[in-house]
Amino acid sequence: MLPSGSVDTGSIADAITDFMARATELASFPPAHHWTAKPRSATLNAMNPDFLREAIRLSLEKMEAGEGGPFGAVIVRNGEIVGRGWNRVTSINDPTAHAEIVAIRDACCRLGTFSLAGCEIYTSGEPCPMCFAAIYWARLERIYYAATCEDATAAGFDDAPFYRQLALPPGSRLIQVVQDLRQEACEAFAAWLRKPNRVVY
Ligand SMILES: [Zn+2]
Repeated sequence: MLPSGSVDTGSIADAITDFMARATELASFPPAHHWTAKPRSATLNAMNPDFLREAIRLSLEKMEAGEGGPFGAVIVRNGEIVGRGWNRVTSINDPTAHAEIVAIRDACCRLGTFSLAGCEIYTSGEPCPMCFAAIYWARLERIYYAATCEDATAAGFDDAPFYRQLALPPGSRLIQVVQDLRQEACEAFAAWLRKPNRVVY
């Protein structure tokens, strides 16, 4: 609930109502995303096998060192490696510590930014759905990969089954999803849109 006695209560309630009506409308007519990758013909660098081999080298070296599964990745900007990552799932007890995620965090930390627009990722294996989405969130502009999703599946990893899960209607997926309290949660979205100094990403 909104705080009682707030002078702005009425307008906040109106903002939430307006926000939810707008969101419902957008569910039927989603807008074009505010960000688009450069056209495929744009002047991104051609695939550099040295960077892909560096990702593959990391996949083997770090796996043998006991860091996690056999996956490595590097982030490249203007022909220079600006971030490296390798799978660390089992060594740091983090199921999200895939090579691509670790490389994105490394590059963002080094560059002091949350956007990797203008960068490319080289990864030893085709990204799983989580990493694929992280690559979108990071605004990376191109993916180069070596081993396929099917190769990873043959090695015992769940990439391909997860891709199939996402393609199913929500009610048919293995993990049950329950939704409730939409209006209460939308208070934060309405407040976000009213926040004058919000940092959009
Ligand atoms: Zn992944």
